[in-house]
Amino acid sequence: MRILITNDDGVYSPGIAALAQVASRFGETRIVAPDVEMSSASSSLSASRPLTYKRTRLPFDVAGVEAYRVNGTPGDCVGVGTCVWQNVDLVLSGINLGTNLGNALWHSGTLAGARQAALLGLRGIAFSAPATDTEQPEFEILKTSVAAVLDLLMGLPSLRLVNVNLPASTPRGIVWTRQSVRQYDGKVVPGKDPMGRTHYWYTVVPVQATDEGTDRWALEQGYASVTPLRVDLTDEAALDEAKRRAEPPKVRLA
Ligand code: MN
Repeated sequence: MRILITNDDGVYSPGIAALAQVASRFGETRIVAPDVEMSSASSSLSASRPLTYKRTRLPFDVAGVEAYRVNGTPGDCVGVGTCVWQNVDLVLSGINLGTNLGNALWHSGTLAGARQAALLGLRGIAFSAPATDTEQPEFEILKTSVAAVLDLLMGLPSLRLVNVNLPASTPRGIVWTRQSVRQYDGKVVPGKDPMGRTHYWYTVVPVQATDEGTDRWALEQGYASVTPLRVDLTDEAALDEAKRRAEPPKVRLA
């Protein structure tokens, strides 16, 4: 099995090295990741310029794994990586330094790496874990969790796109979850730059309540959260209601 590893924290992140170390036990592994941080890049692609693909040396030892940097987004990396390296079966993205829960999945570059794989007809699995600016995650603990989740998911090949969030410490277990979507935590906050000019930053506000069975709930409870996702955004209930309530006009519109 060929496993392509990407992320949105950049090719030199310790999280991608930890993921590649675990992945190399499951198959032939290669790292293809952005040359700089691309967090919140979502599924954007660099369609208006050419991309480069360059071999690089990582600051962390990942035996037997070649690493390449691409001057683009996580989606670019999966596109270029699977073009150069044929017959990839599985794309793993992460381990992101920071969780990707709930509505953050719309913005997550980590998930986008896995989603690009799903769009290309491959399997994609995204991994994220809590991180702060001051404390590095315990990567040995995270690696044990990643291995346990991969053992579970390797037996379920029909799950084509999966979002995984790992607690910082040893999980109480692994639970299947759904995405928590009741509250949106993205917020624009105005501030002043050193020259006194107003600027605006996107920030994340704390979510007040979590619903049982969701990704956020699982992580709060100390579980590893595994959420099967799909790329079909259709709102089936709204579609049925629209069909029931309004017949689109039969005539061609002017
Ligand atoms: Mn990131």
